[in-house]
Amino acid sequence: MSNWLEEGWRHVWLPYAQMQTAPLPLPVARTEGSAIHLEDGRVLIDGIASWWTACHGYNHPHIAQAVSAQLARVPHVMFGGLAHEPAYRLSTRLAALLPEPLNRVFFTDSGSVAVEVAIKIAVQSRLNRGERGRTKILAFTGGYHGDTFGTMAICDPEEGMHAMFTGLLPEHPVIPLPRDEASTAAFDAFLEANAHTLAGIIIEPLVQGAGGMVLHPPQVLRHLRRAADAYGLTLIFDEIFTGFGRTGTMFAFEQAGVAPDIITLSKALTGGTLPLAATIATDALFEAFLSASPSTALMHGPTYMANALGCAAANASLDLFEREPRLAQVAAISAQMARELAPCRALPGVVDVRVLGAIGVVELAEIANPAALRMALVAQGVWIRPFRNILYLTPAFTISPDELSHLCAAIFRVLS
Ligand SMILES: *Cc1c(COP(=O)(O)O)cnc(C)c1O
Repeated sequence: MSNWLEEGWRHVWLPYAQMQTAPLPLPVARTEGSAIHLEDGRVLIDGIASWWTACHGYNHPHIAQAVSAQLARVPHVMFGGLAHEPAYRLSTRLAALLPEPLNRVFFTDSGSVAVEVAIKIAVQSRLNRGERGRTKILAFTGGYHGDTFGTMAICDPEEGMHAMFTGLLPEHPVIPLPRDEASTAAFDAFLEANAHTLAGIIIEPLVQGAGGMVLHPPQVLRHLRRAADAYGLTLIFDEIFTGFGRTGTMFAFEQAGVAPDIITLSKALTGGTLPLAATIATDALFEAFLSASPSTALMHGPTYMANALGCAAANASLDLFEREPRLAQVAAISAQMARELAPCRALPGVVDVRVLGAIGVVELAEIANPAALRMALVAQGVWIRPFRNILYLTPAFTISPDELSHLCAAIFRVLS
């Protein structure tokens, strides 16, 4: 075992882990493309692009070059009172990628905080206009929007541990998605009775990621847009997972033909290199903060807001989306996963196989021992992290057909 691992293991605290039983993590020596090289010489093909971030593969030279050039020029300056080119350019480019009137970009350094800012904008825009009492955000069961107290409150109640933190979490309604006749009737009735308490609605469009890669059709988003318009609610699309091509279009909402009032972005924003997030709001929401008084300003400002290295990485990532055929690569990955994961349907214990864009999911009745399954996958030379009752692939868009075949075959073999 490496010295640093042995020594540091007594001090690190891992994400989402029961530390009493957590297995020792695999020490990584270097990464390249879709390959993770371990210290002991083994090479794993990465099936999940490090929590859906590394969409161009690891160590893309264009991003590396942009970040090191920025590091030499201006690594970071405070965003209050000082301006730097990467953030101003990135704001302009993000606004250009999104439909009008999504024009105003607020940078933060994690997805959770981007969602916090979205909630703050939805609520404070009403308070600024003298509209009191509309402070709730309607969210959906199975949803995931982050780990902070504000975002836990709009996660699925069980996953967000609402019971454990009763009294500490703000209370927001969380109801089933309007995806069939009964749930749509319940949703409509809920709004009829409660819209006067709501500031907005939040959803992960097309796929609830951390909730188990659960898909819903674009009609759901159109229904939410109609309802939000009818009751004057702020519609928030949390595209932290789905943004930047993952579902087959640059943003998932494009497939529904309706746009949100606020969109949150992070994960693949910097191509998996640096922490950065953005909350982008419409002109109308922005204008609700304009007045002669400082008291209507948006009071938020992370120390590392719009970090210049992160913004340089994000600009370089957008260059790659412009120069290289990313969406065509996603379409090819989608077709290959649909073909090569299909045989899993016949395996005992498999209850569903589904593919959307570059997301491939094999759902099982249950996964009794996720750690053992993970190690069996490592033995096949792949890095795939089973969670809940699913095995999923969200590879880099630059993965080769051979590498993708290896991932699909490993899942089939391990489940067999
Ligand atoms: C990952 C994720 C978040 C939280 O982002 P962090 O950077 O982990 O705080 C929020 N919403 C969605 C949809 C996500 O996938």
